[in-house]
Amino acid sequence: MKKAYKLKCFLCEKEHDEQESATTCTSCHGPLETYYNYDLIAQKLNTYALKTAPISALKYMALYPIDDFKNIVSLEEGGTPLIHAKNLGKKLGLNNLYIKNEGMNPTGCFKDRGTMVEITKAKEMGAKAICVASTGNMAASVSAYSAAAGIPCYVLVPEGTPLGKLSQTLTFGARLIQVRASYSTCAELAEQMAQRFGYYLAGDYTFRTEGQKSEGYEIIEQLFWRCPDYVVCPIGCGTNLHAIFKGIQELEKLGFIRRLPKLIGVQTEGCNPVVKAFEAGRLDFDSIKNPRTVASAIAAGTPLDGAKILKDVYDSEGTVVEVDDEYLLECQQEQTRAEGVFSEPSGALAYAAVKKLSGEGFFNEDDVVVCMATGNGLKDPKSPLKILPEPASVEPDFKEIERFIEQKLYAVRESGRIEKTKVLFTKSPKDSKAISKVLADEFDISVNGGISEAIYRSVTGFLEKGKEITKADLQYILEEILDEFSLKNRVLAISDFKVQTTMHDQAEAEVWAEAFGKEVHAYGKGVGPVDAAIQALKDALKVKVWLIDYEVAIDASGVDAAVEVKMTLKNEKGHRVVARSTSPDIIVASLKAFEKGVNILYSKLEGI
Ligand SMILES: *Cc1c(COP(=O)(O)O)cnc(C)c1O
Ligand SMILES: [Zn+2]
Repeated sequence: MKKAYKLKCFLCEKEHDEQESATTCTSCHGPLETYYNYDLIAQKLNTYALKTAPISALKYMALYPIDDFKNIVSLEEGGTPLIHAKNLGKKLGLNNLYIKNEGMNPTGCFKDRGTMVEITKAKEMGAKAICVASTGNMAASVSAYSAAAGIPCYVLVPEGTPLGKLSQTLTFGARLIQVRASYSTCAELAEQMAQRFGYYLAGDYTFRTEGQKSEGYEIIEQLFWRCPDYVVCPIGCGTNLHAIFKGIQELEKLGFIRRLPKLIGVQTEGCNPVVKAFEAGRLDFDSIKNPRTVASAIAAGTPLDGAKILKDVYDSEGTVVEVDDEYLLECQQEQTRAEGVFSEPSGALAYAAVKKLSGEGFFNEDDVVVCMATGNGLKDPKSPLKILPEPASVEPDFKEIERFIEQKLYAVRESGRIEKTKVLFTKSPKDSKAISKVLADEFDISVNGGISEAIYRSVTGFLEKGKEITKADLQYILEEILDEFSLKNRVLAISDFKVQTTMHDQAEAEVWAEAFGKEVHAYGKGVGPVDAAIQALKDALKVKVWLIDYEVAIDASGVDAAVEVKMTLKNEKGHRVVARSTSPDIIVASLKAFEKGVNILYSKLEGI
């Protein structure tokens, strides 16, 4: 049977036999590309079946470089939703904004479409093992398909790859190596690994492109065989956007549509080689040595398909834009909250670019704009938490739930995350009414007179010590005071302490407090000042309290941005409580957390 495709170098056009190389050119090391005889394909293609069969990547089999369907390694990739993003569209004045949710693929990323073709080819060629370099998603995808094909898989990723991706890769049974370098170095090492051991090299090469074309097919199909005006997609190696464009170009060649979309590629400021090349009007690019971005999936300093994607963007009369990490994380929140599509940071880059360009009047309101949400948010659960508040913890008492809702504690936390460093007071406000006004403006909450008085006193106290009050400071003070006011009774109030450290980290502490209605003055010894002070306090109490966990975090966003202590306490009845406190001084933070914990234990949980 005559093959409908051949492999040629994208740069020097040298033809390659796929057994010889299906990755890079053996003469110039340029990327290979698969070229088809579309007349031959048109003869084989059953247009009616294609238009009526349910959406899936596999139904486009005639357009993949696979000879024998019995070798297919598939997890039923593709067929992902194209969501009409009406809420975001309304915000930006776009009537036809769409999100293609590629996070719905088997391993949570579009890579599965390419991996289907790649691993099928590996099986066809009788690969004894597979090796791949990845920023994480390709690792998860290739290891999943290798597992399904029963072929061992070696994976190289940069150290610090997001948790979800590592966990997937290890669980699929890949032989995973973390390299203390960026992705592009991993890619070079994987290539050497393939040569030295004769493994099948997976990665951003031409067979992957062939599988990922199905994103392009599906976009057209889901828009009822119409072409969008713009396709917006993050660029790492550029393989994916190139594949999408190739898929759409093929449907145009085969007569399904009559025009092509403009491409909008997106990168971040921390890894922008394609943006720089585009702005200089070049077809080649300079590598970025140490990419640094929260969008780890696009952190490819030397994009393997950089030359291809630059040509595509120019050919389509599109553009390439960059955003910064902070803007991206906010856009990730916005996309998720408005449309319910939770993407990892790279997956929200397309929306971020559309938002940025909309602000510059780039689009017409009726333009059909498709954003590629490339990866699932669960892949990288930590990144959004960088800008989200910690969730509230409450005692198991319905009053606490009421308090959360009635005092609008959710709103305090939510608004506290925006403009944290904004300075609210540089000199003492006139009275507590001034405090109430600021609380209403900044946090959308109203508090009673007693609470605003207490906040006023605290704010004034800090200002007298020469400290300005930022929004994060006020949020911290507000939460502390709301907490205190929610106690029926305070069983412990520390009034003063002294600590002294001797040689060998031995420490002694002296503490003055009121405990269960009595003045106490206690001494303690410990391995450090915090330990000694807590020992003294424990002795001063007439009840037994155990400290069962103690965590210290530096650089919390509370007052003076200093030390945050999180303490878990347990009492004789088995009640547990987690108490937090922040202070520039670790001993003060620890004592306050202990004091708070004891008060919660006895006032809230035992009703004293
Ligand atoms: C791989 C990946 C990208 C980048 O795709 P390229 O083909 O490298 O341009 C973008 N987003 C996610 C989630 C990815 O996994
Ligand atoms: Zn070449």
